[in-house]
Amino acid sequence: MRLVVGLTGGIGSGKSAAAEEFARLGATVVDTDAIAHELTGAGGAAIPGVERLFAQATLGGQTRVTQDSVVVRVGGLTSLTEGPSILLLGTDDFHPASARYFATAQMLAAVRALADSLRVMADFFAALPADQRPTGRSPRVLGVNDMSLPWGGLFDLGGSWHWPHMAHRTGRSADIDVRRDPADDNLALAVFSIWQRLGGRVLNERQALNHLHLEF
Ligand SMILES: [Zn+2]
Repeated sequence: MRLVVGLTGGIGSGKSAAAEEFARLGATVVDTDAIAHELTGAGGAAIPGVERLFAQATLGGQTRVTQDSVVVRVGGLTSLTEGPSILLLGTDDFHPASARYFATAQMLAAVRALADSLRVMADFFAALPADQRPTGRSPRVLGVNDMSLPWGGLFDLGGSWHWPHMAHRTGRSADIDVRRDPADDNLALAVFSIWQRLGGRVLNERQALNHLHLEF
């Protein structure tokens, strides 16, 4: 009878030590890790196939090949633009302003609907007699911080930002300007209510990052 044992596990979990012990006891050890390295190393048997895949991946303009990776585009993203009810606010050292507001058509429509609703609310409040006007900030123009990049993918290039900014990969996220100041408490409630009614999800990042993170 022949017994076949598979050794799996994370880095440093002891696979090699266990394999050595099997070998010492007379077992034949097949190291697939070593085989994979040989196949994909310089001049390896798998290299022509890998090169063919990389070449195919560049067809159609939906992928971009760098030295050692294939970047795949998230399809269907277009950019939010400023309008009467939307102001684009985001900045950092990595991404130009024109590249940070890409999203799916549904997300763009939802952000515009939110901004328009807040503008109607602001106009309504402004029309009330002063003693009946709710306190706090009620902006006629919604500040949008970041959405997704033109091709989607990792926004946080340095890997150092707070989750869920990591989520800004597929055109379904937006950070909007709702500050931790108590003057923005009512605004935050309004955004939660409107966004959820539109069918989206809100993550509160006012305390740490001065914004609400919206998902749609
Ligand atoms: Zn976010």
